[in-house]
Amino acid sequence: MPTFCDVALAVPLELVFTYAIPPGMEPVVGGRVLVPFRQQRMWGIVVDLHDRPPQVKTKKVIEALDLAPVLDEQLLKLGKWIADYYLAPAGEVFRTMLPLSAEFKRAITYRITDDGQMALHLAGRSGSPARSRRTPDEQLVEFRVLDYLAECESAREDRLRGATRISKALLSGMVRKRWIEREDVSAARDAARTVKVAVLRSLETSVPPLTQSDDGAPGVPSTPLRAGPAGLDGPHAAQPTGEDARLSTSGGETPSRQPAGRRRYNENQRTLLETLAAAGGKVPVEALRGLDVPRTTLSTLVRRGLVRLIDEPQDFTVSKIRPRPSPFEFEFNPAQKDALAKILDGVRSRTFTGMLLHGVTGSGKTAVYLAGMREVLEQGRSSILLVPEIGLTPAVAADLHQVFGDEVAILHSGLTHAERAEQWHRIKGGEARVVVGTRSAVFAPVGDLALLIVDEEQDSSYKQEETPRYHARDVAVMRAKMAGAVVVLGSATPSLESYYNAKKNKYALVELPDRVEQRPLPEVEILDMRQEFQETGHEQVISRKLAEEIRERLEKKEQVMVLLNRRGYSPVVLCRACGKTLQCKNCAVSMTHHKRERKMECHYCGHVAHIPDKCSHCGSEYVYFVGTGSEKLEELLHGMFPQARIGRLDRDTVRGREDFERALNALNEGELDMLVGTQMIAKGHDVHGVTLVGVVGADIALGLPDFRGAERTFQLLTQVAGRAGRGQSPGKVVLQTYFPDHYAVQFAARHDFAGFYDKELQFRSWMHYPPYSAIANVVIRSEKLDEALTWSGELGRWFEQTRHEGIRVLGPAAAPILRLKRDYRYHFMLKSPSREKMNTLLRAMLAAAAARKIPRPQIIVDVDAVWLM
Ligand SMILES: [Zn+2]
Ligand SMILES: [Zn+2]
Repeated sequence: MPTFCDVALAVPLELVFTYAIPPGMEPVVGGRVLVPFRQQRMWGIVVDLHDRPPQVKTKKVIEALDLAPVLDEQLLKLGKWIADYYLAPAGEVFRTMLPLSAEFKRAITYRITDDGQMALHLAGRSGSPARSRRTPDEQLVEFRVLDYLAECESAREDRLRGATRISKALLSGMVRKRWIEREDVSAARDAARTVKVAVLRSLETSVPPLTQSDDGAPGVPSTPLRAGPAGLDGPHAAQPTGEDARLSTSGGETPSRQPAGRRRYNENQRTLLETLAAAGGKVPVEALRGLDVPRTTLSTLVRRGLVRLIDEPQDFTVSKIRPRPSPFEFEFNPAQKDALAKILDGVRSRTFTGMLLHGVTGSGKTAVYLAGMREVLEQGRSSILLVPEIGLTPAVAADLHQVFGDEVAILHSGLTHAERAEQWHRIKGGEARVVVGTRSAVFAPVGDLALLIVDEEQDSSYKQEETPRYHARDVAVMRAKMAGAVVVLGSATPSLESYYNAKKNKYALVELPDRVEQRPLPEVEILDMRQEFQETGHEQVISRKLAEEIRERLEKKEQVMVLLNRRGYSPVVLCRACGKTLQCKNCAVSMTHHKRERKMECHYCGHVAHIPDKCSHCGSEYVYFVGTGSEKLEELLHGMFPQARIGRLDRDTVRGREDFERALNALNEGELDMLVGTQMIAKGHDVHGVTLVGVVGADIALGLPDFRGAERTFQLLTQVAGRAGRGQSPGKVVLQTYFPDHYAVQFAARHDFAGFYDKELQFRSWMHYPPYSAIANVVIRSEKLDEALTWSGELGRWFEQTRHEGIRVLGPAAAPILRLKRDYRYHFMLKSPSREKMNTLLRAMLAAAAARKIPRPQIIVDVDAVWLM
């Protein structure tokens, strides 16, 4: 058995930590261990077992939590790849991969010490704790605590205090007397989710013959109270009283004092050991209670190292899903059949196959996914479908249950930690072989993975905006490579990166060029809002043309969608006297006015403030609310079309998936005439009654300092345009814009994907942006402006003095949002065609930063950054 293990802990350090393995403990690679770390206990993942003693003195593993790996070889390898690729600490990556935090909770626990055992023992003889200045009542309480702790290995503070009613002061007093030990357990098992199981040490599976104790009296005192000091050994045992002599024979011997092979057991201990051996070495502690053996016998065996106690997950109550008996039938057009055949060819080959499924909106991609996954399930293999945050509506879940019944596990952001853990165990146990979920479902522990699908692969919600800053699409591709599986990236508007890879034959490009039932694409009319301003003399939210089109549809009882990609009522509060705007106190951004909820809100940090009645800078009462958000748009439309039933879909009206579904259902059922909202209305699912889509503000991204602005705008416009059309009627889109000549707007209006990509790729190539270069955004942040400036200056000098051929380093420069969530932010942008060189330089930079005592959490390294503000 190896004597050391390397453990990855979820701390912001790019290191693994070596711990000594106590004799008899058997941690496994890929399993969790509980270890001491800086006055705390933490769980980490074992990444290596070895016999190489480290230079420094090591601490010991407290407990091995898993008998089998929770991360199999492939997932462990995937985690290491993520740590390397995104420069994230491996421990933090593993924590992200395992949704098992519900099994751990912050807790303070107490254990009885040897002194405490002695005090309890003496008290048991004399009837009260020895030589105490406490009142008899207090002594009784202390006595109860010792008694309670003597019975269990350790007890959480809440339980201990509940059971004994001891005050905090008295408890602290007992700690000072060293009768009990207090432990701040930052990662303790949540007993509610687990059961204690007694495990016979594997070396000890055979129970030696019963040997009579020295004095021939094998009895263990019948009350736990008197048996308290059973585990007493060392110095205390050297003071033999009549009681002690008897107690030591009842189980006080430790292996160290007993030559091997000469261990002795009393009858009770023997009963326990034999029961354990007969049951295959493992029995829940609760079941052992049924034996006629005092509870302390077990703790004695634990102290003697013959038995250990571990926590195992309880049997999980699986939420019952009703399988539908009727087989789900897909009716495919030739392009869909072809796509499915290609996916299944790849599955059969059992070698990595990458595929970009480019299907226009409404071309029936989802049906292809489901048919592919069903085929994989019938072969007894596993599949994972990733969807964007908003893609998992109850309607989709219902479809999934219809096709897959009980075999599907659905992971979405609405699950509690405990529900997430429950799904994880179902998947790990092989009960669910079809997994559908958002970003982190890419880590689902399925066995024999055959098919991994990323729907709407361009969606930015696949990028995690906290450590580890991984992109689930790219992780999916890597996982498929490791598993020899098929990965399908699906989209109506693929990302530049994926499209480029398909063009370079890294992926097969599979097209679904037609909408199902040959529905034609809508006509798009571009409306120049600068001209509208000149002609009407003032800023318009809804142009005359759009108003007229809406009126026409409403008269014909047809439905309308209006997109404005900004929530709230007014995005800016401006003082006409001094010209200043109301800024968030944590961020350098304007607070947004929310009229109905009567508040000002920061959309970046969530800070909420009162609506000002005067300027906070100069005291003037001339404060104006400027600009329009979706809430105001709804109000404006309501004023213009008082008869129309209008619904709104944005993050203020949609609290959960059900709200989203309800709004879309209301539209589908004809309970709404008009739906107003942010990009949320552009996503989701076919809405068949909409014949007009108005785009009021979708070109905001074109004005932002972000090289993906054009791509995002093109994608959003294409998606929202895809909502228009009903039956054979093509539908119409009125696209209001201040950038009518921009190629993103022009190509979207013509539904010309290839044209847009060619143009955008040219621009990316000139500017050395992805897919031609890898990029990394390095943000230096601090609540203190001078620290942020000093540190970014120091790193700027380091970059200047360091050779980095083939890597462009831009910066330091103020981040577009200079202050965010209280932090001042400066950044560097790195670009390089060689990812390897770039990551080597970034690693050297982190080392230089550490040498300059810049705290690691103040440096964000965002490889393949998506959000550049
Ligand atoms: Zn003012
Ligand atoms: Zn803020």
